[in-house]
Amino acid sequence: MSELLSQLWTPELQAAFTVVLVLLVILYVLSIVWVVRDAYLRGTMWYLWAIVALVPVLGVIAYCLLRPPLLQLDRDEQELEIALKQRQLMKYGECAACGYPVEADFVLCPNCHTQLKNLCMRCNHALEPSWTVCPYCATPVGSAAPAPSSGSRPRRSSGQGRSSRGGAQK
Ligand SMILES: [Zn+2]
Ligand SMILES: [Zn+2]
Repeated sequence: MSELLSQLWTPELQAAFTVVLVLLVILYVLSIVWVVRDAYLRGTMWYLWAIVALVPVLGVIAYCLLRPPLLQLDRDEQELEIALKQRQLMKYGECAACGYPVEADFVLCPNCHTQLKNLCMRCNHALEPSWTVCPYCATPVGSAAPAPSSGSRPRRSSGQGRSSRGGAQK
């Protein structure tokens, strides 16, 4: 029996067996590395999965079945995309009176003609109703007289040069 075995157990077979064994070990180690890396990227408890992956073959199969569906990077990207969409939605609003969708720079509701924004008397930019000063030209909202100092002497009370150019623009 042992003679037959030693006859079969040739150096060639020994070498082939060793190669297969080494390949299996490499595969096993790589599978553990893959599980740990994948679990880490997916934001799960990778050290727990590393222990599971120590079970040959079954550990990797279990991980493949139970791993969370999304990579952490993908999830971050998805959250970013959702935030971006919300931002875009915020650009548009609804008319407070009738609920009609209006854009951010609408002054009137196109549906019910409710005034949504004030207009700057000086530069005609649309202003939020809560604003007390125009952020574009620094004119106080509501207090500025329409068309100030048309052709009269230049005033130097507020800003240099700006009011001296006269009210002939617009
Ligand atoms: Zn409306
Ligand atoms: Zn203005």
